[in-house]
Amino acid sequence: MQLRYNYRLDVRPRHRSALAKAFGCARVVFNDALAARESAYQAGLPYITDAELSARLTLAKRTPQRAWLTEVSAVVLQEALADLNTGYRNFFASLSGKRKGPRVGPPRFRSRKDHRQAIRFTANARFKVLPNGKLRLPKVGDVPVRWSRPLPSKPSSVTVIKDSAGRYFASFVVKIRSEPLPQAKRVVGIDLGLTHFAVLSDGTKIASPRFLRRAEKHLKRRQQGVSRKQEGSHNWEKARNGVARAHARVADARRDFRHQLSTRLIRDNQAVAVEGLAVKGLARTRMAKSVHDAGWAEFVAMLEYKARLYGREFHRIGRLEPSSQVCSACRTKDGPKPLRVRVWQCQECGAWLDPDINAAVNVANAAGLAVTACGAQVRPEPVPAQRREAGTRSKSCRKAA
Ligand SMILES: [Zn+2]
Repeated sequence: MQLRYNYRLDVRPRHRSALAKAFGCARVVFNDALAARESAYQAGLPYITDAELSARLTLAKRTPQRAWLTEVSAVVLQEALADLNTGYRNFFASLSGKRKGPRVGPPRFRSRKDHRQAIRFTANARFKVLPNGKLRLPKVGDVPVRWSRPLPSKPSSVTVIKDSAGRYFASFVVKIRSEPLPQAKRVVGIDLGLTHFAVLSDGTKIASPRFLRRAEKHLKRRQQGVSRKQEGSHNWEKARNGVARAHARVADARRDFRHQLSTRLIRDNQAVAVEGLAVKGLARTRMAKSVHDAGWAEFVAMLEYKARLYGREFHRIGRLEPSSQVCSACRTKDGPKPLRVRVWQCQECGAWLDPDINAAVNVANAAGLAVTACGAQVRPEPVPAQRREAGTRSKSCRKAA
């Protein structure tokens, strides 16, 4: 299977200007080709084929207006066209219904103000990891890499990215063989929600780490600071850069957290099940939905590829019918619950249930995983309002009458 390995690049000033040129050229090639296809479409002419676009690029390089395109790697420009072609294919597939999921729009023009600039070098470009650890990029130079872990095999391509905080990364695509772990005894259902990052069918509740929540709060304050400054002013620019850097740090910390958690879940369990997309409870918060959705999607994607990598079972089940309303012990649908309820009793079998854990058990059940519903069952005593994230599960599995 193919995986991406990402590393920070220590870009020197001379690399910086060469990369800026390459980003700019790739952008111009992309935009020229997009404009050509759009005007052909508006003139009622046939769709310009990929091969035709490529031929036009070769011709353009010979004109005085575009001669400077020869100053960057030809592969980088061809890959910019490949990105455009992929964008169109996804758009057409989405129109015809061949592509599932949310609607994909037509490709859009790239801007120098885009938060993320990227170029791709394939094997044809002869990029190389040198014995001294530097990354040799054609027409850019030998760029030092922070090797946070070794590359498992020879990469087939590398994408060089500049993010909104001005940091540079190399993202290598490498092929790796799956290495199944020894069989694990446990299986688990996972409920993703807002009160906790994840709740497991065995009763474990996992909150985002405290440092992360603090960093998120801090970031929000800084963002407010930016909006109080006059747009375009020197101070505004400074504050905005500061926020971009803080944002990048928080995003990194979030990703680390998801990596650690997904690795642990895959290592400890023979099978994991998650609900398609957890949007439960979103309606009742003002939290940025997109942030959470993106975070969950990334987390689920990590679980999926790690399951493949380590020979585990991965189940993504469709959106459940209000899973919190079904008793995980006797599977009776028990009707809606007040939002704030911390514990409820099934009217059918009498089990006392923690709604979050109950939902996680239902996810496991829907995937056909044999988990006990006992983790979801709690003491019937009134549960005080929770200040901490500790679980409310009882030590022994209570079988209610
Ligand atoms: Zn029940």
